[in-house]
Amino acid sequence: MANPPHGGVLKDLVARDQPIATQLKEEAQGLKDIVLTERQLCDLELITNGGFSPLEGFMNAKDYNSVVDTLRLADGTLFPIPINLDVSEEDIRRLSIVPGGRFALRDPRDDEPLAIITVEDVYQPNLVKEAVQVFGADDPAHPSVAYLRTQVQEYYIGGKLQAIQAPVHFDYVALRYTPAELRAHFKKLAWRRVVAFQTRNPMHRAHRELTIRASRMHQANVLIHPVVGLTKPGDVDHYTRVRVYEAIMAKYPHGMGHLALLPLAMRMAGPREAVWHAIIRKNFGATHFIVGRDHAGPGKNSYGKDFYGPYDAQELVLKYHDELQIEMVPFQMMTYLPSTDEYQPIDEVPKNVQTLDISGTELRRRLKTGAPIPDWFSYDAVVKTLRESYPPRKSQGFVLFLTGFHNSGKDIISKALQVALNEQGGRSVTLLLGEGIQESSLRFTAEERDQNVQRMGFVAAELARAGAAVIVAPMAPKEHTRATVRNTVLKTAGPGGNFFTIHVATPLAYCEKTDRRGVYAQARAGKIISFPGISEEYEVPVKTDLTVDVSQQNIEEIVHSIVLLLEIQSLV
Ligand code: ADP
Repeated sequence: MANPPHGGVLKDLVARDQPIATQLKEEAQGLKDIVLTERQLCDLELITNGGFSPLEGFMNAKDYNSVVDTLRLADGTLFPIPINLDVSEEDIRRLSIVPGGRFALRDPRDDEPLAIITVEDVYQPNLVKEAVQVFGADDPAHPSVAYLRTQVQEYYIGGKLQAIQAPVHFDYVALRYTPAELRAHFKKLAWRRVVAFQTRNPMHRAHRELTIRASRMHQANVLIHPVVGLTKPGDVDHYTRVRVYEAIMAKYPHGMGHLALLPLAMRMAGPREAVWHAIIRKNFGATHFIVGRDHAGPGKNSYGKDFYGPYDAQELVLKYHDELQIEMVPFQMMTYLPSTDEYQPIDEVPKNVQTLDISGTELRRRLKTGAPIPDWFSYDAVVKTLRESYPPRKSQGFVLFLTGFHNSGKDIISKALQVALNEQGGRSVTLLLGEGIQESSLRFTAEERDQNVQRMGFVAAELARAGAAVIVAPMAPKEHTRATVRNTVLKTAGPGGNFFTIHVATPLAYCEKTDRRGVYAQARAGKIISFPGISEEYEVPVKTDLTVDVSQQNIEEIVHSIVLLLEIQSLV
C-alpha cells in the first residue's frame, strides 16, 4: 500500500527484537522491575507494536517539552500527545533509577516482563503546564487533568524500549491486530483506500450512515477501529460495545467493512487527540480518517461549558493535513430526516426540513428506564445488546449501608429488612453484619476496623454487580471510610451501583443503656482498644439517604421507610 507510516518507518519493536527476545527475557529476570499502570500498559503496547510510530520508547525531557509546547518531537516530527513513564520519587530512590540503567517493564496483570527500558533521563514535569497546553485548562473536570492530579507520579523517565513480548489479551483475540497485521490484511484483500472510524461509544444508525457515506465519497473500504483500552470514565464497557460493533458490522454491505480493536488509552484531548488518532490510524494502514462532531470531547468544564468547540478537532487536523499524509474526512453532525427516512450531515439539510436526534443522555435514560428506542435511531440487535447491560431497575442490585453506634439497632433492622426483601422476591438478599464478619471485632484497632469496612464494601459491590440486594451494617464511624465504600460500589458495581447511606442515629445513651451484652461497660473499663462513641469518635454522616432512630421509631416503621426509599427509586 502506498501510505507510509508516520515518520516513514513502522517501529515494530516486537518483530524487531524477536530474535533476541529470549535473551532479553533472561536479562529481565536479573533486572529491577517497574510494574506498569493500566495506562502505561496501553501506551507500551502501541509503542512496541508501532501504533505510535515513530516513537521507540517513553519520551525524554526534550521530546516531552517540545510535544507539550509545539505538538512536535524534538526532531520536528508532528506528535501532539506526551507519552510518559511516570514513577514516584520513592521508586526512583528505591530502584536507583539513573540514566544508563536498564529496568524490566512488567505487565500489572500477570507480572510478565514486556520490555526493557534503557533510561535516558529522569525529569520532573510541570503538570499544570501540561494540563493547560495539552488539554486546554488546568481543570479537574477534564478526565486527563484529574488523572494528572491524582494518578500521575512526580517523575517521568525517558528512554527507548526493547520489546520482549506483546501484552497477552484473553478477550477478542481474533479482533486484535498490530499495525503490521492490519496492513497485511488490507494488502491481502487488495484494499487500497481505507477510511478509519474511531469510536469509544456504541454505534447506531447515524454512525453506519456516516461511515458508508465516507466510503462512497472516497471509494474506500471502512475500518471500524474502536478503542478498547481506557476511555472516558463512565463509558459503556468494551465487552458490551464489541457485541454492538459485531451486530452493526452485519449491517454493512458485504465486504465493505472490517472491525479491529485498538488498545489505546484515550486522553479525551479533543483537537490534539484527533491529530494523534489520525497518526495512529495512518500507522495501522488507513488512508482516510473520519473526524466528526466533538471528536474525543471530554464534555463540560467546571463552568458548565464545553472544553472544546464541536469542530475544533477538524480545524487542527486540517492545519496539519499536509504532513499528516492521511486524508481527513470531516463530518458535521449526522441527523435524521423523518420525511425521507435518511441521515444527512446537518449542514446539508435544507431549511425548514424537520430533523430528529436522540442525545447520549437521552439514550442512557431510555436504556435505564426501559423506554422505547425507535428504529430510525438504532437496530434491534444493538438495542437488545445494550438493554442486556442496562437491566431494568427491578433487576439491578443495590447496597443499603447502615451506619451507627454499637447496639443502635443496625442488626435488628437489617434482619427485618432481609425478611421484607425476601418476601418481595426477585433478588438474592445478602446480609453483611458488622459483628458477623468481624470475629473478635472488639479487639480491633481503628485502622483494622476501617480496613474491614472497606473489605465489606468490596464484597458488597461485587454482589450488587451480580444483581443482589446487599445490606451492610458495620459501625463505620469514619466519614472517609464510608465515602470510600460508596465510591467502590458506584464505580465497580455497574448497573448495581445503587448505594444508600442509612444513619441509624439512635443516641449513644440509649445504645449504652439497652446493651445487654455489656460491651459498653467493657469499653468504659478500657478493655476494648478503640470503641466508637467511647474511646473513638463517631463522625456523624454528612449526607444520608435516610436517618432512623430506634429510640423514637419501632422496627416495622423503620423497615417500611427503607422499603419506601427503594420504591421511590423503582428498585422494588
Ligand atoms: P469519540 O470521538 O470520543 O471517540 P464517539 O465514539 O462518540 O466519541 O465518536 C466517534 C467519531 O464519530 C468521532 O469522530 C465523532 O466526531 C463522530 N460522531 C459521533 N456521532 C456523530 C454524529 N451524530 N454526527 C457526526 N459525527 C459523529
